[in-house]
Amino acid sequence: MDDWRAIGFERLATERFDVLVVGGGIIGAGVAELAARHGFKVALVERDDFASGTSSASSKLVHGGLRYLRMGEFGLVRAALGEVRVLGEIVAPHLVRRLRFVLPVYRGGPYGRIPIRGALWSYAGLTGAISERGRLIAPAAAVALVPPLRREGLRVAGLYPDAQTDDARLCITILRGAADEGAVVLNRAELIGLEPGPVAVVRDAGDGATVEVAARVVVNASGPWVDEVRRLEDGSAGTSVTLSKGAHIVLEQLGDWGAALTIPVDRARVAFAVPWQGVLLLGTTDAPFDGDARNVRATDADERQILDEVGLAVDRDALAAPVRARFAGVRVLPGGTSETARAPRETMLSRGRLGMLSVAGGKLTTYRRIALAVLHALRSELELHRIDRRPHPLPGAADPDLAAAALLRRRPELEAQLATQLASAYGTLADEVAAAGPPEPLGDGVTEVAAQVLYARDREWALTVDDVLRRRTTIALTGRDSDAVRARVEALLAS
Ligand SMILES: Cc1cc2nc3c(=O)[nH]c(=O)nc-3n(C[C@H](O)[C@H](O)[C@H](O)COP(=O)(O)OP(=O)(O)OC[C@H]3O[C@@H](n4cnc5c(N)ncnc54)[C@H](O)[C@@H]3O)c2cc1C
Repeated sequence: MDDWRAIGFERLATERFDVLVVGGGIIGAGVAELAARHGFKVALVERDDFASGTSSASSKLVHGGLRYLRMGEFGLVRAALGEVRVLGEIVAPHLVRRLRFVLPVYRGGPYGRIPIRGALWSYAGLTGAISERGRLIAPAAAVALVPPLRREGLRVAGLYPDAQTDDARLCITILRGAADEGAVVLNRAELIGLEPGPVAVVRDAGDGATVEVAARVVVNASGPWVDEVRRLEDGSAGTSVTLSKGAHIVLEQLGDWGAALTIPVDRARVAFAVPWQGVLLLGTTDAPFDGDARNVRATDADERQILDEVGLAVDRDALAAPVRARFAGVRVLPGGTSETARAPRETMLSRGRLGMLSVAGGKLTTYRRIALAVLHALRSELELHRIDRRPHPLPGAADPDLAAAALLRRRPELEAQLATQLASAYGTLADEVAAAGPPEPLGDGVTEVAAQVLYARDREWALTVDDVLRRRTTIALTGRDSDAVRARVEALLAS
């Protein structure tokens, strides 16, 4: 067993924790980091790999959610817009990048010019201090930003700012922050039982061994599995959430996209076409899901639906590019909602029989605020008098251009392109990454290097090839995970 795992399980078995977090998606990670930063003794257990659930299957937008305005969710949008700024300026500037969005208005489409202008105006008002405000632009200006935009019937377009990220890396970086504050974080460690105390029974997926973990409070942040985990505490616990599947496809990017597209599909839904990591991310669907979220997959039917919906605004030629990858995730919506696209994206907190606090729903964008709400709910058990609500930089937080320049000053032997790539993914931690191994690309068409695999293994808890290709890097999601690359990563992990 790797040293860090043995040490982690030993700590689980022998220490008493203030907070045990179940689930290593972005919400669990955020709670663990915040609680650890407040001086609490924290452990987090994740059944599979960190970010292997919804937190690596999102649209990767850090956004207010223009469409939620129509649903009257002004509070949610204002809070999310505040987070766009805080995450991009303080918490993780290297991982959260501003991106402009074009929203085309077609003759006969679901919205006319006036509602769109109203929505942009409200969005800007809720944004507060933001440099660029939304406005309407002429069709020619929209096409100049997004050359494959369909011109026929295009009356006008909205242009507004939001941001994007690498969801899995953001999650891993938050966990790194928690670990730096002393938290035990373990993947392949599943909660399988909860007894009065509370005492949690955690199974090591490696050898099947179990440990009993004593904690003052347990936080259930298991996303789509929230009710499954609630039933470990109370077998009669009912269903508290509705699940909805969302699929994406990843296309080779043809042409130069200077902005992303938000495409109104009907009066409840939008589709996105977003340039991301050199490819084009298209999505997403929104359909009720009642299977096991572990088996959620993007199907051929999802692919057709996404291409049809994005095709409302993008030329067919651009959509004929090869599909590089596809993926799906499961949204958690509060309560029993029948129409998932119109369901509110709020977060729910609930208590179980043994006092476990379950947290469900919400957005990647608002993970920090959700963590604050969780800590607030726990303050009497934890005897916490004051919560520090200020945003704190995550490990490596830096302007990526400055971090790349600093890296090159210290390591002039690196290629400038590689320094930029490392600084965008790791910020100032790029130095540690570069020191972890050779700057040797992993294979044809793959600019990620051997050092990143070794760093993922030694500092980011990666155990398998997929941990590296899907969640420590974007190699798999951008469709560059050839057999040769997989073999190289496997050899490096074993080295
Ligand atoms: C298609 C789609 C697109 C989205 N796009 C966006 C977007 O662009 N922007 C945005 O802000 N939000 C977006 N969201 C929402 C966002 O992705 C989610 O709100 C967020 O990822 C939820 O994180 P989580 O930690 O609650 O859940 P998850 O990431 O699913 O994490 C839960 C974890 O719990 C673990 N677990 C389960 N049972 C156990 C157990 N017994 N023991 C230990 N661990 C366990 C699981 O393995 C899993 O890793 C999107 C969601 C979907 C589905």
